[in-house]
Amino acid sequence: GRVFNFSSGPAVLPQPVLEKVQSELLDWQGSGMSVMEMSHRGEDFTAIATRAEAALRRLLDIPDDYRVLFLQGGATAQFSMVPMNLLREGGSADFIDTGIWSRKAMAEAARYGRVRLAGGGERNGYARVPTPDELDFDPAALYVHYTPNETIGGVEFSYVPDSGSVPLVADMSSTILSRPLDVRRFGLIYAGAQKNIGPAGLTLVIVREDLLGEPATAATPTVFDYRVYADNASMYNTPPTFAWYIAGEVFEWIEREGGLKAMGERNHRKAAKLYALLDASDFYRSPVAVDSRSWMNATFTLADEALSAAFLEGAESSGLKNLKGHRSVGGMRASLYNAMPEAGVDALVEYMREFERVHG
Ligand code: PLP
Repeated sequence: GRVFNFSSGPAVLPQPVLEKVQSELLDWQGSGMSVMEMSHRGEDFTAIATRAEAALRRLLDIPDDYRVLFLQGGATAQFSMVPMNLLREGGSADFIDTGIWSRKAMAEAARYGRVRLAGGGERNGYARVPTPDELDFDPAALYVHYTPNETIGGVEFSYVPDSGSVPLVADMSSTILSRPLDVRRFGLIYAGAQKNIGPAGLTLVIVREDLLGEPATAATPTVFDYRVYADNASMYNTPPTFAWYIAGEVFEWIEREGGLKAMGERNHRKAAKLYALLDASDFYRSPVAVDSRSWMNATFTLADEALSAAFLEGAESSGLKNLKGHRSVGGMRASLYNAMPEAGVDALVEYMREFERVHG
């Protein structure tokens, strides 16, 4: 009865992870308790938490001078938490604007201090990300923020911007763990869990230790102070224990699948199949420039938009769920996160070919 779920988030989880979680839902490894019922400071949960972090560190080869924080509040809370910790009085932060999420992050930071546009912007219609030579960084900026993958627009950077010695801050919510990543290029990475990591409710932050100083202002709430979480193993208050446990299971699943290199190859193949179909057809259109196409969120429209409702209805009844684009941009969006099997993409491509044959 499971469907192919193309939702942008909360999104599909790996079937083997769900089965394992189900098998130990009532009694985690002889403890007589569900992980949901355990004290976050007890021995069992501490072991679960440590194991999850260790798996993530192996996957991403996270250097020792980076801390991993398991937080709440979603990526949206990071739109505030980053400036509350890093945007010191008198300084300014550079932003690359590639769509709805980077704009939100920039608007929120502007409530705390000065922000400056270092590239991108709506004038290109958000159909592509800026090229390296279109970026213009302020060498005195406190940090550069960008969104490597815009989940709504379906545009993705195929390169890591070079911000020199200015710390690079990345909202990796919808691209983290989709392929290998050199963490050393970044000062801080954050991601809401509900795409490639695990269930909603957990937010991951990977931060270089030298950025963990005093928060930017004395008014920064304790619960939004990175240092407090770093000093308390992310257990300053009750963490999202169940989501943390499942994230650990997802990390180990990725390792069993061959790690990030294998994930990257598989994700590349999945996206390539769908974009090949879009490019070969006049019936479907991809609004995104070829070099900026997202592997994780493929957006497309039907040349005859009047057919959109029939397209979605037919997809639903074929077990292909949640293909409707974000309400702000319309069209279609197929999210192809790690847990979407290649068979799901094959089924989508086949459905789209058949729909074109009947309606084209
Ligand atoms: N940033 C990006 C790139 C996203 O895709 C999302 C949600 O989809 C967010 C931020 C907001 O995340 P959250 O709902 O976890 O606050």
